[in-house]
Amino acid sequence: MLISIRHLSKTFRNPDGSTLTVLKDVNCDINPGEVISIIGPSGTGKSTLLRAINMLEPPTGGEILFEGKNIMAKGYRLDALRMKMGMVFQSFNLFEHMTVLQNVTYAPVRLLGLSEQAAEEEAFALLKKVGMAQKANDMPSSLSGGQKQRVAIARALAMHPEVILFDEPTSALDPTMVGEVLSVIRQLAKEGLTMLIVTHEMRFARDVSTRIFFMNEGIIYEDGTPEQIFEHPVRSATKAFVNRIQMIKFEVGGDDFDFLTMRTEFTRFCIKYNIAGKAQTACDLAHDMLSNQMAAFRPLTLRLTHTELTGVTALDFMVEGLNESPVAGADLDDIRARVQDIVEEPTVRGFRVKLII
Ligand code: ADP
Ligand code: MG
Repeated sequence: MLISIRHLSKTFRNPDGSTLTVLKDVNCDINPGEVISIIGPSGTGKSTLLRAINMLEPPTGGEILFEGKNIMAKGYRLDALRMKMGMVFQSFNLFEHMTVLQNVTYAPVRLLGLSEQAAEEEAFALLKKVGMAQKANDMPSSLSGGQKQRVAIARALAMHPEVILFDEPTSALDPTMVGEVLSVIRQLAKEGLTMLIVTHEMRFARDVSTRIFFMNEGIIYEDGTPEQIFEHPVRSATKAFVNRIQMIKFEVGGDDFDFLTMRTEFTRFCIKYNIAGKAQTACDLAHDMLSNQMAAFRPLTLRLTHTELTGVTALDFMVEGLNESPVAGADLDDIRARVQDIVEEPTVRGFRVKLII
């Protein structure tokens, strides 16, 4: 057992005297080589849990055993603990006044006692591994977010940690850069590095993890293999969370509609959810339907939805106050040839035409 957590709790005391209990009773055991993704709604204590595990945020109750020793006990060497636990933050936290290379060599030289030369040799190897060797002498300010995060990962690896804790490593990134960081983490998982990863990337969590913790209401509400949590969740809050649908919505007026903005937003959305290949189709279909088959039914609501877990993407045209399909008599041959399916269905307030793309 690498980490054992028993009845862990954390209560924050606010300046006005009120209190907020964020972690109520967290229990888990983590073995070497496990890759655990921690998912859950925001504000449920995922960051607090990671910060408790390396004592950046000392818990108020319970215990944490690391390699069998209680890290909350008086006299436990926290500096030694932090050498064995790497941490990668959402906001990178690179040393801005040092080059990329110095960022990676700093701790091994100071804390592990490596010679400059040995530290540099290893730093180059690690930078190469994360695809950043060519930037070794650059300053962090000249890097993109994705590049900074890959350097932060190399810096954590340079300490040969027993475990790396990642707190939403891709949520501060431009959508186009998420993939490059996730693929580095994927590679580390393959190599058997123990990792705890707080993430909102459901597909990634499902593919890369040995176990998933779903956090909710201050506890590990449900845990299991990716298959258990994503395909057969037991509790209803878990079900609702893992099946959530991402969505972008436009109100399409009667006369004018800003197609350019729609194209830009649809494209951003598709890149963000890893379906860049569908962006063009979604934009063209929306344009054609709004100009032809649906033209007489404006104003209407246009939605692009994506269910991350199932991979289903759909374009919805929703018209209020209709009780039959707006495209009942329309020529849909051209549209049908470009989609997987067309669903016409009543809604609470009207009618919806759904193109599955
Ligand atoms: P998550 O990472 O799941 O979004 P956090 O662990 O960041 O959640 O925060 C959980 C709750 O604890 C939030 O309501 C947050 O406002 C509160 N919180 C976090 N850190 C502090 C702090 N240092 N002082 C007071 N409240 C905090
Ligand atoms: Mg957080």
